[in-house]
Amino acid sequence: MTVSEVSLPEGAFETLGDRIGFVSLVDSMRSDPALKVVNSARISYDKQKQQFDERDQKLCQFLWEHGHTSPYRHSFYTFHWKAPLFVFRQAFKYQVGSGWRKYTVDGDPVSLEVFDVLFDTDKGCSWNEVSGRYVQWTAEFYVPHTFRSNPPHGNKQASVDLPGDFDHARERELMVEECREAFARYEARIARGVAKEIARMCLPQNLYTQAYWTVSLQGVMHFLEQRLKPDAQYEIRRYAEGVYSLVKSDLDRLGITRESIIGGLK
Ligand SMILES: Cc1cc2nc3c(=O)[nH]c(=O)nc-3n(C[C@H](O)[C@H](O)[C@H](O)COP(=O)(O)OP(=O)(O)OC[C@H]3O[C@@H](n4cnc5c(N)ncnc54)[C@H](O)[C@@H]3O)c2cc1C
Repeated sequence: MTVSEVSLPEGAFETLGDRIGFVSLVDSMRSDPALKVVNSARISYDKQKQQFDERDQKLCQFLWEHGHTSPYRHSFYTFHWKAPLFVFRQAFKYQVGSGWRKYTVDGDPVSLEVFDVLFDTDKGCSWNEVSGRYVQWTAEFYVPHTFRSNPPHGNKQASVDLPGDFDHARERELMVEECREAFARYEARIARGVAKEIARMCLPQNLYTQAYWTVSLQGVMHFLEQRLKPDAQYEIRRYAEGVYSLVKSDLDRLGITRESIIGGLK
């Protein structure tokens, strides 16, 4: 269900087939993320390189496969997500593996590592989201065309499509109706003078919102490890597919395959 047609940012990965949900890459910081992995590893031997080559790829694979993850924490990405609230509930759980900040002391830049040692700051991902206290929502809801049921052997695995004789179209109509009604009540409440922060309380979880996510390459890989898997909910899996496609060229250069990410650390 959509009231406004939004154009997707350039290069965005469309996630949920409705021209509303997407994930796009805002920034991957300026220096080569692949070279940063090897140079941060090689600093142990006081070595640095200007160009990434095949030997570096082997080193990167070795580091990843043997759980030497810290070199993967120097390369950062900022993603822009537009996703339903319930997808963000899952995404916001990814909290570790990033600490991109520009620190200065007396005007001079201070490296993150020094700052962390000195001030023992956290290394969390940074999520920033549209505020429903300040912004009046647009009536954009994610409503699937195909509905799913829990698998017969329990609800721990990913759900499966309901059979063809299930009335998917009717179920969708009912959901759209509910969203419309809830949104109309939300707008009416605001018109009666109720603050947005209160009026929003009865809006459904499939309302679209947006957030920026800044995260290290290791944090990205950890997210992909869990959310590319078939047991992750389909909707967040689509965002994982999007994130994967946006970092794939860097992962290819590092020699890190999709299988080795999903397989996890040894
Ligand atoms: C299929 C699936 C089902 C899920 N079901 C639920 C659910 O029912 N309810 C629910 O609340 N969540 C659920 N989750 C979310 C899950 O519990 C994690 O919060 C989420 O996957 C993020 O993973 P993480 O904690 O490893 O990530 P991050 O927070 O990014 O942490 C990354 C890694 O850092 C380390 N770390 C993080 N914090 C600490 C710490 N305090 N101390 C020591 N080490 C730390 C751990 O090694 C961790 O794996 C589910 C996740 C999946 C994939």
